[in-house]
Amino acid sequence: MDAKEWKEKLLTQKKNGYDRMPAGEREAMDAYCASYKTYLDAGKTERECVREGIRLAEEKGFKAYTRGMELKAGDKVYLDNRGKMLLLAVIGQKSLAEGVQIAAAHIDSPRLDLKPAPLYEESELAYLKTHYYGGIRKYQWVTIPLELHGVIALKDGSAVSVTIGEGSEPKLVISDLLPHLGAEQSKKTLAEGIEGEQLNILVGSEPIEGEEKERVKLAVMKRLYEKYGITEEDFISAELEAVPAANATDIGLDASLIGAYGHDDRVCGYAALKALLDLDEVPGKTSVCILADKEEIGSVGVSGMQTAAFDTFMEDLCDSQNVPVRACLEKSFCLSADVTAAFDPNFASVFEKRNSSFLNYGIGLCKYTGSRGKSGASDASAELVAYARRIFDENGVIWQMAELGKVDAGGGGTVACYMANRNINTLDAGVPVLAMHAPFEIVAKLDCYMTYKGMMAVYKN
Ligand code: MN
Ligand code: MN
Repeated sequence: MDAKEWKEKLLTQKKNGYDRMPAGEREAMDAYCASYKTYLDAGKTERECVREGIRLAEEKGFKAYTRGMELKAGDKVYLDNRGKMLLLAVIGQKSLAEGVQIAAAHIDSPRLDLKPAPLYEESELAYLKTHYYGGIRKYQWVTIPLELHGVIALKDGSAVSVTIGEGSEPKLVISDLLPHLGAEQSKKTLAEGIEGEQLNILVGSEPIEGEEKERVKLAVMKRLYEKYGITEEDFISAELEAVPAANATDIGLDASLIGAYGHDDRVCGYAALKALLDLDEVPGKTSVCILADKEEIGSVGVSGMQTAAFDTFMEDLCDSQNVPVRACLEKSFCLSADVTAAFDPNFASVFEKRNSSFLNYGIGLCKYTGSRGKSGASDASAELVAYARRIFDENGVIWQMAELGKVDAGGGGTVACYMANRNINTLDAGVPVLAMHAPFEIVAKLDCYMTYKGMMAVYKN
């Protein structure tokens, strides 16, 4: 071999995904990304993502799972965990004793939740108080149009579905200070410039006729009563989420990127779901797709990845084949599909370029996440990373390695550790994102599509 051949053989050649993608895949990528944008517009909350996921799954012949159901190879089932977490499975040809192939992503995203007593009037303006959910940079959530999505549960057991601000409806907003009077505020740090208790959403200004106090608040309540039949007390048993009022859109003159709210982690959630729905033959091992809630606040609660709902679902599947669930889990593989931080030339100093993921370089493989010395990571084994390299290469998946920023620059976690704790071999991988957790996040279409192909490779192997 000459020196050039040696170099190509021995050194890692990082190449842009567009230089590696077969020409024939372009149309499939565009079609996939168009369907992803539609999914995002239909799913702005975890509940909506579950609803849309079920709709898509039923279109492909999935049936609601009930305990004790007889299952045979090729059967497609889903379990709706309280409307906020979705578990799906395609039963494979092999016994569950040989393990399952899991793709686990989350469908909750950072946002502003309404407090239990949200509505108030101040200086003849009506506001809703919020308590933010997940790791947001508060200054990013002011002066952008917002929508309100969620449910109000009533004492009689019924629930009212709420969407305010969609389409041509009036939007909501949080105000910020004008620069003319912002001298003191401007001296504060970004973290302190807008405080949590300032994230109050403006919802009205026109008073109702009469002599009462708080006539603007009353006018807002009257509208809500007329539209939803609710009274002020009903806010106490509501889950109302303020999310950015913008639909997913192509970004760049070349339309190579997608800008949207909630890529983290619906971009991986949709890939995991769509790949499962698109399985064209019965897989060898059983394929399992998990779309979990509550990842942004620690995967806690009855619908988060730590929930026993997952274990129960797996036990039920295993019971149908008389396989102990522990025997199944120890042979299973889980791709913890969550976004990673893409290298951002605008903020290069927080990245370590040699180990960073880049837009258009494919799905990012993360051996570990965590912070302060990998704390909170599951730190997948070398063997597991080798396995992922192999199945991705064999299936034409363009991938890259990814580490979230410089050592000690910060860090993050995923559902990986909760899966690994269950004795499941687990590896993190996902789409690189610019401006993660912002109201408007950016991903590259090529990476979205390669993540879909990566999920498909997991299910088929
Ligand atoms: Mn995430
Ligand atoms: Mn996140």
